[in-house]
Amino acid sequence: MKRKIIDSHWHLYTHTDRDGRDFREVLDKFCEENALAAINICSIPIYKDLGPAQNMLAAIYKLHNRSAYAYAGLVYPEKPFEAPMPSGMDPLSQYNELMEIGFDGIKMLETKPYEQKDYSVFIDDEYFDSFFAACEENNTHMIWHVADPETFWDIDRIPKRFLDKGWYYGDGSYLPLERVYDIVYNILEKHPRLSVHFAHFFFMSDYPEKLEELFEKYPNVGVDITPGAEMYGSFGKRREFYRDFFIKYADRIMYGSDISYSGAGLEHLAHRGRSVQDFLTTSNGVTVIDNETKGISLPKEALDKIFYQNFEKVAGNTPKPINREALVRYVEKYRHLINDQKMLDYILKTL
Ligand SMILES: [Zn+2]
Repeated sequence: MKRKIIDSHWHLYTHTDRDGRDFREVLDKFCEENALAAINICSIPIYKDLGPAQNMLAAIYKLHNRSAYAYAGLVYPEKPFEAPMPSGMDPLSQYNELMEIGFDGIKMLETKPYEQKDYSVFIDDEYFDSFFAACEENNTHMIWHVADPETFWDIDRIPKRFLDKGWYYGDGSYLPLERVYDIVYNILEKHPRLSVHFAHFFFMSDYPEKLEELFEKYPNVGVDITPGAEMYGSFGKRREFYRDFFIKYADRIMYGSDISYSGAGLEHLAHRGRSVQDFLTTSNGVTVIDNETKGISLPKEALDKIFYQNFEKVAGNTPKPINREALVRYVEKYRHLINDQKMLDYILKTL
């Protein structure tokens, strides 16, 4: 049986691979081979200072593949961030530009501890109020990364592969875990109808009762189940509990893989998406990245919600079309912030 699946959480870091192949070709092939109805590219301009090129590449892919969705990210013209941003680049102005271009939602990474510190940005500052108010008012859906697994604050518990990435946050120079969550709770308090899915299960797989509270309090809040694989270990330990949880909250949970295209082949990454699918659809033993668990074999009704209906409900049954003129204006306005000349050349040539 062919199942409809939308991968709601995808990343794109480059426009080409070592052989000079265009990324659009690679992504098309990936969707086809993995039988995906659509992918949603989540732009993350503050990740490794990738900048506004993130939004531009995502929009270029949407121009090429009309079945693709893309969520845009705010650009920070100066690092560390200081309010106000340069004239015309404040968060609300950026939001209006991005919506005019035809993005389907907003991706937030500002509360991932590394980036939060790197940019010194506190998005619960009132400077961001009008931006969040507009998202709330217009029902603009967000996919939002908050914190990281709590083990990343503990030198004895952080898995080595994350230590190697520089994601140890316990040296006193990063925000404490609770403070990171408080930023989000402050924003939800002010904007209780925000439409948002927190990525990676909000890193709450050991505290599902906190998630239930959140779901209870905020009608438009959900989580995605992109690995961050540690949650699959927790799911496995409480398999019956979590099977019931997934059925009860099937309206709040969204499928995604967090696959990132960086110019290398995608075959080994495709496995990650399939392992999450197996977790949802089968009762087999499943390894999600390095976490062993056992599938929860959900009923079809819950699967359809998690695999595509919840996403379509917040992002639209079809992706928004790209307004090419608005995109060209955006490129002209922000191109000076792109450090990678080859990428800028590609964007200018391709538009
Ligand atoms: Zn991600």
